[in-house]
Amino acid sequence: MSDLPHVALVTGGSRGIGRAVAERLAADGFEVYLTYVSRPEEAEKTVAAIEAAGGKAKAFQLDSGDRQAVADFFGLEIKGQVALDVLVNNAGITRDGLMMRMKDDDWDKVIAINLTGCFTFLKEASKIMGKQRSGRIVNITSVVGQMGNAGQTNYSAAKAGLIGLTKSAARELAARGITVNAVAPGFIETDMTAKLPEKIVEAMLEEIPLKSLGNVEDIAAAVAFLAGPGAGYITGQVLGVNGGMYM
Ligand code: NAP
Repeated sequence: MSDLPHVALVTGGSRGIGRAVAERLAADGFEVYLTYVSRPEEAEKTVAAIEAAGGKAKAFQLDSGDRQAVADFFGLEIKGQVALDVLVNNAGITRDGLMMRMKDDDWDKVIAINLTGCFTFLKEASKIMGKQRSGRIVNITSVVGQMGNAGQTNYSAAKAGLIGLTKSAARELAARGITVNAVAPGFIETDMTAKLPEKIVEAMLEEIPLKSLGNVEDIAAAVAFLAGPGAGYITGQVLGVNGGMYM
């Protein structure tokens, strides 16, 4: 076992699902490195909450869409500095709109952050974890990557792509003792879903067999399981946490 600090890196760990994942992994004993892009005050709140609970965390402003910045971050903060036990690819954005009217920029941005950004982190993390010959990677996809959603062609394409990326990376990295899985949340109460009109939320509830939106801790528990000691023989899987949708 390495003497270096054992780190779980959570992208977009400053708010929403990422914050809950960061808090949960810190409670499980990892030092948490979290990234954010635009709201340092939220990132600091997460770090403070983890420290108040007796854990360790650091926040880094790092745009998942900036490949060079991500490579520099791994070179400076990860390589030779820490044991990277866990990567959670969570940072994500939406730019919803019907396909006929979707701006090219809204397509490009969502693919850049939600899919290419995850690839960049996976690629960098796999170099470090490959040398360690151990590691757990959890990608946060979405139920809409499995079932599609009108108004989210960009987002569901990115999330479906992330499932393919997860399965292929799992096959490539298995021989080095690295597992790669995805968690596919349904509709979870966060800033992302707070933007949705009430009518859409009502329509969603109709489709959820358990008849409620999920909460961030439901996702954090699934991520913690896949990052924890009980999941060493699980790789290339997509764990739906969605109240029974898409059965
Ligand atoms: P959220 O509340 O909007 O939080 C998004 C997080 O990602 C924030 O920490 C944000 O940082 C960070 N982020 C955004 N763009 C970034 C970038 N370019 N580089 C680095 N960090 C960036 O979202 P959420 O609802 O928690 O969603 C988290 C993940 O779960 C996403 O991948 C989302 O697609 C997925 N998901 C969510 C739901 C749901 O119902 N909420 C359902 C299925 C899947 P700043 O605060 O600095 O902007």
